[in-house]
Amino acid sequence: MSGAERRGRAALPSVDRVLQSAHALIGAHGRALVTEAVRESLAARRNAGTAAAIDAVLADAETALARLARPSQRRVFNLTGTVLHTNLGRAPLPEEAIAAAAEAMREPTTLEYDTAGGRRGERDDHIAGWLTRLTGGAAALAVNNNAGALVLALNALAAGQETIVSRGELIEIGGAFRLPDIMERAGTTLREIGTTNRTHLRDFAAAIGPQTGLMLKVHTSNYAIEGFTAAVPTPQLAALAHENGVPLVEDLGSGTLVDLEGWGLPHEPTVAEALNAGADLVTFSGDKLLGGPQAGLVVGRADLIATLARNPLKRALRLDKIRLAALEAVLRLYADPARLAARLPALRLLTRAAGDIRATAQRLQPAVAAALAGIARVDIVETRSQIGSGALPVSLLPSAALALLPLRRGGRAAEALAQLLRDLPVPVLGRIEGGRVLLDLRCLEDEAGLLAQLSAPR
Ligand SMILES: *Cc1c(COP(=O)(O)O)cnc(C)c1O
Repeated sequence: MSGAERRGRAALPSVDRVLQSAHALIGAHGRALVTEAVRESLAARRNAGTAAAIDAVLADAETALARLARPSQRRVFNLTGTVLHTNLGRAPLPEEAIAAAAEAMREPTTLEYDTAGGRRGERDDHIAGWLTRLTGGAAALAVNNNAGALVLALNALAAGQETIVSRGELIEIGGAFRLPDIMERAGTTLREIGTTNRTHLRDFAAAIGPQTGLMLKVHTSNYAIEGFTAAVPTPQLAALAHENGVPLVEDLGSGTLVDLEGWGLPHEPTVAEALNAGADLVTFSGDKLLGGPQAGLVVGRADLIATLARNPLKRALRLDKIRLAALEAVLRLYADPARLAARLPALRLLTRAAGDIRATAQRLQPAVAAALAGIARVDIVETRSQIGSGALPVSLLPSAALALLPLRRGGRAAEALAQLLRDLPVPVLGRIEGGRVLLDLRCLEDEAGLLAQLSAPR
């Protein structure tokens, strides 16, 4: 035993002695966690050979327990300029959906129960009526997410057969979602046709045969192929598919229910348009442009929806009562398009006028500049926000940002400043551009909350 070890051992209290003085901590965190934290503190101090009184060990334990008590998934300020940010949870939900989800969490519900007949009901009935009304489709169902919807459709309609897709649409969405891999897992054989930039109807016609299970059209949501390009419009694809008795499935990705042009946004194909153009099934996400909870929605021909509903994967991918309640509440808002932008946060943020965002910047700039005095210069700049989640990848929305220029120059000064903002109690997430941290204010609705923590002592 070294001298340091002997001194350390002699000068540290026992676990029991520390616990005898830990009533307050045990009251707050429970005996098991406090005991573990005390043991860890004593072990660390013993290894370092440092002596400690009971109070110091308790202080260590308190710090460790406070860290543990903080939720891992925390609120953040999304000032990245990407409205539907996948890593930040995509669409913020409307109050109506939050209330519905909270009630569903607290109490038993009619999830799969028909009170009129006193018998079992279908969980998809809560949303199918709204989806068919809003899209003109004959039937609808919901699963965990759009990736799941695609797996389900491919497996239910084309397992053991071929699925024809244009090479221009073999997408990777991110997070290990690559269409060829998804197809393999769904048990269907990918039949790629055409080239990256050009695919013609004759390419589809040549590939179709008795081995064909379905034709798939994928909305190239997170990139754009420009220049010398050709893709086959849905009506022609649908006609070919139907002549050959093969279903056409269109994965719209974001898949909006309303024409966004009405709010001055670029056009994104709507679910109704895809169905009218002849797609037999359309799949899309619940938490992208739709502005709801994570979900994968499938709308279209009733016989095909029934086939999907009977597939065992549907059971594995089904939605829980909480998200179904939230989704139902969001879909109900679509029944009144005139008030949609005011009530649906995703649309409210996407349609926020640049002038309004600039006014927010002007209100905030003096306070943020004061809070960052000596650290950064704060200017107001024009910028462009993105919709995010792969929607309309090349369209950018005019916005305004606070640009924070670090006063301490150096290679990684902007990164250090960004870290400082991420370390705030509610992390503030911006983006780094040209040596500055840009805080795009499009998605800032809680100005008071941001200011309160910026002015809090650091
Ligand atoms: C986003 C997207 C998906 C995946 O949807 P999730 O709801 O995230 O699972 C699939 N296809 C396309 C075209 C997409 O844009």
